[in-house]
Amino acid sequence: QPLHIVTFCQEVIDDMQALIKPGQRIVYTHLSGEPAVSLDGQMLKNILINLLVNASKYSANGKAIDLSTAVAGDQFQLTVRDQGIGIPDADKDKLFINFFRARNVNHVSGTGLGLYVVKRYVDLLGGTVSFTSQLDSGTIFTVHLPLTPPSHENHSGD
Ligand code: ATP
Ligand code: MG
Repeated sequence: QPLHIVTFCQEVIDDMQALIKPGQRIVYTHLSGEPAVSLDGQMLKNILINLLVNASKYSANGKAIDLSTAVAGDQFQLTVRDQGIGIPDADKDKLFINFFRARNVNHVSGTGLGLYVVKRYVDLLGGTVSFTSQLDSGTIFTVHLPLTPPSHENHSGD
C-alpha cells in the first residue's frame, strides 16, 4: 500500500512534539514530485525521528528545524537542517559508528546509537545518507532512498 509522504511526515512531526525543545519548531516542506510512494513506513519513521531529535538536541531553544522531502524519478530524498552546534571536522568520519559521540556534545545526553541505526536502515533500503556541517553554525543531513526496492539474490521459499 502506497505511503503518502506529506501526510506521513506531518503525522511523525505531530507525534514528536514532546521530544523537541520548547520554542523549537519543525518546518516541513515537500519540494516536488508524486507524494504517494512505496516505502517502508516503520523504517522511514525511525530514520526521521532519529534525525529530527538530533537536530533538536544539538541546537538551542528557539532555533528552527527544517525538514524537506522530494520525489524525483525513482528516488525519494529527505533533508533535515538545523542551526545547531555543528560537527567538528575531526569527528566527521566517525559519526555513523555505534556509540560514537562528537567531542562538542558537552552536557547533552545520548548513547551514540541513533545515527548507527539510521545508517543500518538506509543500507537495508538500498539508499545513502550523508551530511554537511559547519561547527557552531549548523548541520544538514540528506537521505536518498530508491523507490524501486533493491532486488535480492535469493528468491527461494517465497
Ligand atoms: P542517541 O543514541 O540517543 O541518538 P546521540 O544523539 O549521541 O545518542 P547519534 O544520534 O548516533 O547519537 O549521533 C552521534 C553523534 O553525532 C552525536 O553524539 C553528536 O555528537 C553528533 N550529531 C548527530 N547529529 C547531530 C546534529 N544534528 N548536530 C550536531 N551534532 C550531531
Ligand atoms: Mg541521536
